[in-house]
Amino acid sequence: MASAFAHAFSAFAIGKVFPKALISKTVITLGILSAVMPDADVIAFRFGIPYEHMFGHRGITHSFFFAAIWALLLIGIFHAKDITKDKKVVFLYYFIATASHGILDGLTTGGRGVAFFAPLLDQRYFLPWKIIKVSPLSIERFFSEWGMQVIMSEAFWVGIPSLLLIFLGYYMNRKKQ
Ligand SMILES: [Zn+2]
Repeated sequence: MASAFAHAFSAFAIGKVFPKALISKTVITLGILSAVMPDADVIAFRFGIPYEHMFGHRGITHSFFFAAIWALLLIGIFHAKDITKDKKVVFLYYFIATASHGILDGLTTGGRGVAFFAPLLDQRYFLPWKIIKVSPLSIERFFSEWGMQVIMSEAFWVGIPSLLLIFLGYYMNRKKQ
């Protein structure tokens, strides 16, 4: 995993590039939750499901398929009654926010890779650049030298691009008014 902070901040920043009228605070909050939630799969370890398994860590919850289903689910639950909003755009935001989790994990220096194409393919992938220092799975270990290095690495590789997105979004949204 990248840390929950990195996932949350990315989803927030991605939301800022979308039209302000469609992406409300509630939508952004759901986007942030969507970006953090895939790591709930660490619970698999408790049930003895191995890392490499499709239902293991970085498995199905980190796939594009899951991101699409999850985004549809959120639209169904939270936007069923919206008739004024363009749901496709909101869907796209939820999808990208959720999928951004796997993408960031695919850029990390450790772990087993991400099952981007589950359930079709079992295989795990990394992106060609393993640049983000991998975050420990346990909270205790996050408060250590390792955690410090993770924060520095994420501040650079996630924080700076996210800030750029926020500025870009601000500019794009301002121009339209
Ligand atoms: Zn993850």
